[in-house]
Amino acid sequence: MLIEVEVCDVCQRVGVPVSRYTITEAESGRSGTTVRCGHDAESFEDVLRQPDESATTAAAEVPGPASEAAARPPRGRRARKVTTVDEIEAAKAAKA
Ligand SMILES: [Zn+2]
Repeated sequence: MLIEVEVCDVCQRVGVPVSRYTITEAESGRSGTTVRCGHDAESFEDVLRQPDESATTAAAEVPGPASEAAARPPRGRRARKVTTVDEIEAAKAAKA
């Protein structure tokens, strides 16, 4: 009997919900994936929580439930996410 368990790449704790992140470096196009628990994905999630500028502008011009939904798309714990290195670096800069 084989039981496969997906664990966080950093802490490797079993039984902790994890998400798989795909990271792309914009300049070279290099990409890779990493599996992280909520704690070890904080820097990624910080980036993902920031609405991009176009969404913010659209929300300001067209207030209402529809624009709010567009600015904050629902995210499942296991949903695939794409985070660029630029976004990660921006998150680090914001924290510094
Ligand atoms: Zn972890």
